[in-house]
Amino acid sequence: MSTKRDYYEILGVGKNATQEEIKKAYRKVAIQFHPDKNQGDHTAEEKFKEAAEAYEILSNQEKRAQYDRFGHSKGGGGFRGHDMNMEDIFSQFGDIFGGGGGSPFDSFFGGGGGGRTRQRKGSNLRIKLKLSLEEISGGVEKKIKVNRLVRAEGVTFKNCATCGGTGQLRKVVNTMLGQMVSTTTCSACNGAGQLIDKRPPGVDNSGLVSKEDMLTVKIPAGVSEGMQLSMSGKGNEAPGGGIPGDLLILIEEIEDKDLKRDGNNLVYDLHISFIDAAIGTQVEVPSIGGKARIKIEPGTQSGKILRLRGKGLKDINGYGAGDQLIYINVWTPKKLSSEEKAKLESLKSSPNFQPQPDASEKGFFERMKEYFG
Ligand SMILES: [Zn+2]
Repeated sequence: MSTKRDYYEILGVGKNATQEEIKKAYRKVAIQFHPDKNQGDHTAEEKFKEAAEAYEILSNQEKRAQYDRFGHSKGGGGFRGHDMNMEDIFSQFGDIFGGGGGSPFDSFFGGGGGGRTRQRKGSNLRIKLKLSLEEISGGVEKKIKVNRLVRAEGVTFKNCATCGGTGQLRKVVNTMLGQMVSTTTCSACNGAGQLIDKRPPGVDNSGLVSKEDMLTVKIPAGVSEGMQLSMSGKGNEAPGGGIPGDLLILIEEIEDKDLKRDGNNLVYDLHISFIDAAIGTQVEVPSIGGKARIKIEPGTQSGKILRLRGKGLKDINGYGAGDQLIYINVWTPKKLSSEEKAKLESLKSSPNFQPQPDASEKGFFERMKEYFG
């Protein structure tokens, strides 16, 4: 076993140092040898770990007493520094440097240690948002009412007695390989380190209260049913000093009575009489943001698809826009007066009324392939 330096010596304090003096001394040493400040310096890293180990023992009255009696030999020597990984060491800092998100330590090193402090995050808030095709087409800004959990005022906290305010419980376990330190989240405070002391009515166990909020959300053009948008930080606030959760917006499409959506294309079913189909005409069809006028050529067959280029929905990723497709259905009369029937009968023998499909009239399958890919 390698020789270990004396813990008091490492921190530069006397045997009778108070807890406050030990804390202060450790803070000084930790800052001096912090890895962010001494990148690549192996000796500094060793000293940093050594100091963390010394603090770990001397800051704990029981362990300190044991160490005072037995030194590094059996009994007190089980707390080997290499049982502490960097994660453990950094999590200790909440206690030394005042806890919370912005410890003085972080500011000292320019915030480099931000990822190390365990910040609690508020829960996400989920809402459903119904949108019309028109709103989807152009994108829309919506004001929505949400009930968010926000930190209540007039709430006081006290340190959690179970974990002593660290939010974590450390347990020394005897294994065949020696003593190991395991860390678990304190179940009494769920890792917050604090418990609520006094709370006004309506405030929950974590000091949060429901508040109605008006939020403005910007929906981009081209969203579709089932899509989920996320607004960072607009969810529920975190208990204590954490960061708020996100607002998750689930998109629902309001079905349009005329236009059916097919990806970025919009499909409209147009019914025309066979007389209009034969003679030709102009009709108005519903379209996004108004009506579109289209021309029916003489001799239009049922099943023909007309295309209004770019009149569909904008692509969500900015790849242009879809088309509006107009599917022509030629209406065959379902009932006829005897007079009408006689007129049609008189036309029946005309060769123009006999079906005569040629190569220019595409069948159903070809049309589908051409228009829908
Ligand atoms: Zn606790």
